[in-house]
Amino acid sequence: MSENQDPCLFCQIVAGDLPAEIVGQTERSVAFKDIAPQAPMHLLVVPREHFGDIAQLAAADPALLADMIELADNLAGENADGQFRLVFNSGPRAGQSVFHVHGHVIGGAELGWTPA
Ligand code: C5P
Repeated sequence: MSENQDPCLFCQIVAGDLPAEIVGQTERSVAFKDIAPQAPMHLLVVPREHFGDIAQLAAADPALLADMIELADNLAGENADGQFRLVFNSGPRAGQSVFHVHGHVIGGAELGWTPA
């Protein structure tokens, strides 16, 4: 599932053309604070390279997905005792609104379940 958003918002953040509060990065991934946080820790991890959603990324480059998860884990270690929820909305009906794959890294509080 993917939709075109030209220019891609998160490609612009990765390029430094749009402001974001960057909190971590690797050679291949970037993490920044979500502008509308839903928990004490609410970060987004994105690959520098553009993929529409998690399925496209996993099929094309599973090592890059692992890089993003490692970055999320490291940041949760710094900010939320290493405990976190990692959410990839995939498709509009699942709540995806930005079509550059991103993991929501959520934590820092007791988290409820379920999403709907
Ligand atoms: O999963 P979904 O695609 O809906 O998530 C997009 C997220 O990107 C939202 O949580 C929104 O607050 C965040 N966002 C952001 N910075 C922007 C635009 C959107 O953190 N400039």
